[in-house]
Amino acid sequence: MATSATLAMAAKARELREEGKDIIGLSLGEPDFTVPDFVKEAAIQAVKDDFHAYTPVDGYGDLKKAIITKFRRDNNLIFTPAQIVVSTGAKQSLANLAMVLLNEGDEVLLPAPYWVSYADIAKLAGGVPVEIPSTIDSDFKVTPQALEAAITPKTKMMIYSSPCNPSGSVYSREELRALADVLVKYPNIIIVSDEIYEHINFTGKHASMAQFDDMYEQTVTVNGVSKAYAMTGWRIGYIGAPEWIARACNKMQGQITSGANCIAQRATITALENPPSKIQYMVDAFKERRTMILKLLSEIPGFKTNKPEGAFYVFPDISYYFGKTLRGKQINSASDFSLYLLEEATVATVTGEAFGDPNCIRISYAASEADIKEAMKRIKAALID
Ligand code: PMP
Ligand code: GLU
Repeated sequence: MATSATLAMAAKARELREEGKDIIGLSLGEPDFTVPDFVKEAAIQAVKDDFHAYTPVDGYGDLKKAIITKFRRDNNLIFTPAQIVVSTGAKQSLANLAMVLLNEGDEVLLPAPYWVSYADIAKLAGGVPVEIPSTIDSDFKVTPQALEAAITPKTKMMIYSSPCNPSGSVYSREELRALADVLVKYPNIIIVSDEIYEHINFTGKHASMAQFDDMYEQTVTVNGVSKAYAMTGWRIGYIGAPEWIARACNKMQGQITSGANCIAQRATITALENPPSKIQYMVDAFKERRTMILKLLSEIPGFKTNKPEGAFYVFPDISYYFGKTLRGKQINSASDFSLYLLEEATVATVTGEAFGDPNCIRISYAASEADIKEAMKRIKAALID
């Protein structure tokens, strides 16, 4: 199993900073906002109210109720409490799903580019990742034909995110329907729809695979509070799933970590009970930064970008630099390029190889405008000088 490339790059940047280097970290997908006050207050109240004990493995009953209301309000999805499992971050939700559903050799479809941990979580559970390629010219979205061509008798699962980490692409309802038309023919394939960037969507339209009646029994919807509520360190994720899958995740989690943190669960109730308009100020800021970073990148030679419609990443194709020598350093891959930017521009990014696209790098713009501007200036200088 590989080390998480996002976390490895963040650790490297931290290390260099401790050595006194002035590194701008655009590697980690982590909002630079603080947790909204109304959520903080709920956590403080939970401490004062003496929440301290082990929590139910699959989450507090009233948190599940808030999640059910959220799914109905935002996604038009109806779940019962037995279909909800709260976990220690969406990462654990994904790991539970892989562990309970995959047997040795089962194939897991990953529309590429995909989030770095999907492949290794699948492998850890005995699965075999199968990439479905896409191109920047199709906005990094896969076609129904490419999906169908990747399906074999061993296909057990498909995992994708929309809005997508790392490409920022957002599948429209029609595009999802076209993929669903293929998947519905294979009822044994479970679709894991990772919607953790649901609210960070600049089109204003979020579509969920489980919204299609004929996909509901085949789809697990994953979500969490890390991104939209800037609660990355609070570690709360959750699923809405067919009951048999939720039951299995509950059993798995009960043997591994038990229920998620009590204070963070109480705060999550308040986060989800409030309307998404409360966090719109962060979405608006991300949108402005997207416009800014796309403009700045367009002024740097050799960066080809799509227009990300959600999340907080740009995923430029930088293959223009392959085979070139910069400041005496040979660039043969996206990893070489990302390392060059770290050493020569002191800007941390992540190689696209980790996301299944060896021509790209990922730049997170969940950073201050000042940092983004300075980072782009440094990158430009390191590539032009
Ligand atoms: N899915 C995607 C697409 C992500 O980018 C992340 C980022 N951490 C996760 C899942 C996991 O989120 P969490 O912090 O809830 O574990
Ligand atoms: N999901 C974020 C990212 O892709 C956080 C890091 C991680 O959990 O891998 O950068």
